[in-house]
Amino acid sequence: MPQAQMTADLLADNFVTEFDDDELHEQYDNMLDECHEQCSYVSASPSDLIKEHDPVAYRCGFNDWLDGESRDRLECVDDRYFDADEFNSFDLPWECDECGDECDESDNDGLCDTCEEERLEDEAADEEDDESDD
Ligand SMILES: [Zn+2]
Repeated sequence: MPQAQMTADLLADNFVTEFDDDELHEQYDNMLDECHEQCSYVSASPSDLIKEHDPVAYRCGFNDWLDGESRDRLECVDDRYFDADEFNSFDLPWECDECGDECDESDNDGLCDTCEEERLEDEAADEEDDESDD
């Protein structure tokens, strides 16, 4: 029985937490704001100031931060980012030999319940044919 391909869509379909670009930038901004103390005479947050006055540094910093997070708590699949813990505890589903539907590894002969049932029905039908030949 073949195992399904690991894709970002498959992870998302199975409720593995995904962080989109906006969420990642928000987390990075929060990190910046925590690291840099806000100047009391400016109302803007440190992350906003860096974004506005040094966008290149902001982008580079974000990429570095993302690299670090990817080694630590994020898993990158198809250029999308997922929660590493959830990713690691996620088992790839198995696919039915017959119809390609998801099924349990323990399913008989690599078939899903539906196909397995059909196979049993076919077998039963064959046996009846044998009997009527007598
Ligand atoms: Zn099947």
